Amino acid sequence: MVTTRRQIVSASVAARVTNAGTNVGSTVTIHNTGNQAASAGAAAHANLQSNGNSRAASWHWTVDNTEAVQSFEHTARCWHAGNGTGNNTSIAIEVAMNMTGAGWAAAAENATQLAAMILKQRGLGTAALRQHANWMAKNCPEWIRAGKDGYSWDWFVRRTATHLGGTAVLPPAAGGTPTLHAMGWRTLYAGLAGNDVRALQNWLIEAGYSVGAAGADGSFGPATNNAVIAYQRAAGIAADGYVGPDTQTAMRAGLAIVTPGEPVAPGVGELVADGWWGPETTGRAQQVMGTPIDRIISSQWQGVRGAHPGLVGGWEWVQNPTGSTLIRAVQVRLNTERGAGLTEDGIWGRNTAVALQTALGTTADGVVPGPSPMVVALQTNLNDGALF
Ligand SMILES: [Zn+2]
Repeated sequence: MVTTRRQIVSASVAARVTNAGTNVGSTVTIHNTGNQAASAGAAAHANLQSNGNSRAASWHWTVDNTEAVQSFEHTARCWHAGNGTGNNTSIAIEVAMNMTGAGWAAAAENATQLAAMILKQRGLGTAALRQHANWMAKNCPEWIRAGKDGYSWDWFVRRTATHLGGTAVLPPAAGGTPTLHAMGWRTLYAGLAGNDVRALQNWLIEAGYSVGAAGADGSFGPATNNAVIAYQRAAGIAADGYVGPDTQTAMRAGLAIVTPGEPVAPGVGELVADGWWGPETTGRAQQVMGTPIDRIISSQWQGVRGAHPGLVGGWEWVQNPTGSTLIRAVQVRLNTERGAGLTEDGIWGRNTAVALQTALGTTADGVVPGPSPMVVALQTNLNDGALF
């Protein structure tokens, strides 16, 4: 079994980066760290958490190719999912990405052993596994979702089940783009069943091919077979119903997609951290903060507009502002977590800008140029489900 050790953060750190209350731990969520620096292994991530991670994020375990380090008790409600239910009910495992080849193979294996250990402790099976992507529109765990070197999500679930000594019970499918679904499959054909079949079906549905009334049920029946053949014909490859290397390659390349796929809900997609605060950034912020998602910052004082050219699109500039629910929520968060002392009026201005810049670690000059370093930092954090 993977070597484990405990390096639990201090109570003061835990109080700053977790929700109050007890995590029931009914699921285990798998992440990839997103950091490929050679130094960014489990120990470094654990030390980052021990030292009080400057970003408002936290997770229970980090695992790499040599060890798994626990930073929070399983009862802690860590900020890892970008979603209240995920944070409050799920135990987070970050799988390091600071190695490739045999290192990555060992890290992926260790992650399955750790997942199995936690599931077993809690009397859970593989149906309780989740991807970060189950909780929000984020491509995480990135390498596992991409099936890097064959270590796909399907492999992860089955391998974890092997450690548990049982058969894999499939967790719910996570969202994502067709390209991501298409990676890391065995050859699929009529009569097979499994998570990879369901991934194929999700891909086909998103690509515009019906797999029958049952939808993505994980069972490769006649309707799925017809959909595969229709796809193969459209893509100009042998129409035999076998989803082998040629068909998978075509799917990865995005060939013969007849519709653009399921649109992501407004304002909840992955942001480009370009430093311009428009409707997409507002929508993502509303999702992270739990305020209604309409991608609009309503009723803001027009007098500050000139000094804030980086605020573009969806900002309502008026003479007599009444404020925005989102900005008010941001002010409340800055006051409670950073002691900012802001008036909680929901109106963006110099003081709120300074407080947010301070929280994000960018120059606290109270203005938002276009593009703005503060907005770049904000967008980067929002993509991780955090405000700062
Ligand atoms: Zn993640």
